[in-house]
Amino acid sequence: MKKIISIIIVLLIGHTSMAQLFNPQSKEITSTYFSDPEVDIPTPAFAKKRGFTTYSEMMDFLSALVKKHPDVLQLSYIGKSQKGRDIPFLLINRSVQNHSPKVKVWIQAGIHGDEPASTEGVLYLISELLENSDYAYLLDKLEIGIIPMANIDGSEKLLRYAADGRDLNRDQTKLMVPESIALKQTFSNFGAEVALDFHEFRPYRRDYMAMNPFGLTNPFDVMFLYSGNLNVPDTLRKYTENSFVNNARKLLEEHSLSSHPYYTTSDYQGYTVFNQGAVNSRSSATSYALSNCISTLVEVRGVGLGKTSFKRRTTTIFLTALSYLKTAASESQTVKEVLRLSLEQRKNSDAVVTSLRKVENTTLPFIDMYEATKVDKEVILRDALRSKALLSRSLPKAYILLPEEKALAEKLKVLGLQVNELKKETTIEVEAYRVTDYYKVLKKYEGVQQQQVKTRLENKTVTFPAGSHIVYTDQKNTGLAIETLEPEAQNSFVSFGLLPTGEGEELPVYRYNSNTKLQ
Ligand SMILES: [Zn+2]
Repeated sequence: MKKIISIIIVLLIGHTSMAQLFNPQSKEITSTYFSDPEVDIPTPAFAKKRGFTTYSEMMDFLSALVKKHPDVLQLSYIGKSQKGRDIPFLLINRSVQNHSPKVKVWIQAGIHGDEPASTEGVLYLISELLENSDYAYLLDKLEIGIIPMANIDGSEKLLRYAADGRDLNRDQTKLMVPESIALKQTFSNFGAEVALDFHEFRPYRRDYMAMNPFGLTNPFDVMFLYSGNLNVPDTLRKYTENSFVNNARKLLEEHSLSSHPYYTTSDYQGYTVFNQGAVNSRSSATSYALSNCISTLVEVRGVGLGKTSFKRRTTTIFLTALSYLKTAASESQTVKEVLRLSLEQRKNSDAVVTSLRKVENTTLPFIDMYEATKVDKEVILRDALRSKALLSRSLPKAYILLPEEKALAEKLKVLGLQVNELKKETTIEVEAYRVTDYYKVLKKYEGVQQQQVKTRLENKTVTFPAGSHIVYTDQKNTGLAIETLEPEAQNSFVSFGLLPTGEGEELPVYRYNSNTKLQ
């Protein structure tokens, strides 16, 4: 009997409308803090009582807009999901006479399939940009590339992961999932100068339950994740925060929507700690910033809430995207100047291999789930936005990989790096990496058994065969070469086991420090 009841419960939870019954959010908290705005949104999910926009409803919605605005909106496909569905890419670009160079803005959503407001908000944005004349001026200054549903198989089932069980937003250096390879290749080809990745976060977390007798919930409508990675020049990091993020936070505040820099919680040696910001190049916010791009991952309060506050969540995404477009349009010349300065700074900076977050006690606001009141709690904050370098190396003039590392060279190309081939056998002075410490992590991460290494640099003369792969470091995406090729880096090819090694071994990756270009 017990078994039958639990099967019924599992079946009910699987059904989206019934999931509302198990929604952790009280009506009081919804009406006090997260009520829906009075606005009509023309996207598919608001035309029906239950459920979210399906892939086919989205495609019908987009096709109708393409038909109506063929001169501005183009639809193409970047590849297929693992279940064979075409992944759409929208380009919004109006030809303008005698314009200054446009700013290229990249917008993506639905990389996690259980975050439906991300797709909905982006569909709302597309329709407003095309149909609302108030926003027509933005298209004089901007070219906008949009992936509205990156993880189609996950979205169709309201599941976070792709069909193979992997997380597309942990795959941006190892590039093992077809969808993330297609996404990254399209991003690299597009050449984004500003990038937004929309998500939803889970406001009811087990870690919060232990902090208060009746539990706590996150009080923010939206949290902004921008990179604290030290291989992203500080010119770029500061401008992203001071201009784009701050303008968005102001616009949201005018609409009574609250925001905060992004944090999440984790268990750290038995303590619940709050991790603010990010440095990991396996995820989009940092990966895109390392492509010399103004990059932000936007997390709206929504996972686990079903359709509660869905209009509010969708509006929050729309307004955030709109603010980024307005900033990009009004500061188009500054954007280009900051990116130029940032690239100069990148060429003249060390390669930061590992870094440490600043740890401190601080106070964060929450909502008490029983009283429905705001409360402040003291927390331990590990802040990636204030990181310092732990291991740095000088930036070589080039990294060289032996010819047999073709698969890695292909990944570097997907990451937007130019990879040259050595035309004839060449003997040169280089630095080699000798593995001095080796540890294989037992527990798999994303289906991968990770390696942790320490290496020593050794000067030596090496004869490189023709076909060796050369990655010069005076290019735009050099930060991604550092993150993937420096072996100790947390998301490197060595760390993800793509370059199997062992103690005492020499890696097939070398550092070249001469100004003489290789032939
Ligand atoms: Zn997400």
